Amino acid sequence: MTLDPARLLVVGAGLMGAGIAQVAAQAGHDVLLFDARAGAAQAAHAQLAQSLHGLAAKGKLTTEVAAATLSRIRPVAALQPADLVIEAIVEDADAKRALFAELEALLPPEAVIATNTSSISVTALARGLRHPERLVGLHFFNPVPVMKLVEVVWGLATSPDVAHAVTDLASRWGKTAVHARSTPGFIVNRIARPFYAEALALLQDHAAMPEVIDACLRAAGFRMGPCELMDLIGHDTNLAVTKSVFEANFYDRRFTPSLVQQELVDAGYLGRKSGRGFYRYP
Ligand code: NAD
Repeated sequence: MTLDPARLLVVGAGLMGAGIAQVAAQAGHDVLLFDARAGAAQAAHAQLAQSLHGLAAKGKLTTEVAAATLSRIRPVAALQPADLVIEAIVEDADAKRALFAELEALLPPEAVIATNTSSISVTALARGLRHPERLVGLHFFNPVPVMKLVEVVWGLATSPDVAHAVTDLASRWGKTAVHARSTPGFIVNRIARPFYAEALALLQDHAAMPEVIDACLRAAGFRMGPCELMDLIGHDTNLAVTKSVFEANFYDRRFTPSLVQQELVDAGYLGRKSGRGFYRYP
């Protein structure tokens, strides 16, 4: 099976959905971008325009590529039929399940649904679908245009044809795809949980400020420190991932969510996307 979607729908126009739309459009696909929040898909398009024109001004891509990429992304006000849907909505199993049920009423039976979930069981998300074999995890990393890695996540019912087809597509988009069975947190997020958790524990112990923790880890060779990385990811998303991994590991204490992060979410300090997290953003 070769996946060369003439109609590609990205659902969720937040950090990840906008990045996925950009990468797909840059690879030559026409992309429909939908978000449940009125105006969000248009806002994402406007933000993409700003960042692509910025890249063109810096000479990182040509103005023609920037213009062509933008022209291929069309914000839409309702879900549409498509050959491939990439779901990048909120990290919430019930919300994703409800969306898939709506999509199945619209999609042809052979259409593929890829979920960008960071941590929710693809096996469990597929349960209840009319065609569970067409659901596969396609886990991009943030920022999507920059990060090469993609985890292709197999649920128990995922068709090998579907998994291989999305792998091939991701490679054509310049990504490096690795395969993982659907276990809590998959590969990267499982390993990364303690990285965030220990930084949050240090903060809870008042051992050091975020700036100091980040500076230490950068000096140790990490590209970003854990606090600035959590600000980039979004604390709402990161907390949802931690809760999902904690629950899926039968409440193993190693994955206990942090009160520090819960407080940030409760305050609406979600990180870069809300203008404030551990740090403030202009
Ligand atoms: P985000 O908060 O930036 O964006 C989510 C968007 O989904 C919002 O615009 C929201 O309005 C929209 N939305 C919510 N419910 C919807 C629905 N039912 N239908 C349509 N749109 C809906 O979140 P994000 O960071 O882009 O994360 C999206 C997904 O990608 C999550 O599953 C997350 O775990 C995963 N992910 C996030 C990161 C990251 O670093 N932030 C990395 C990899 C994967």
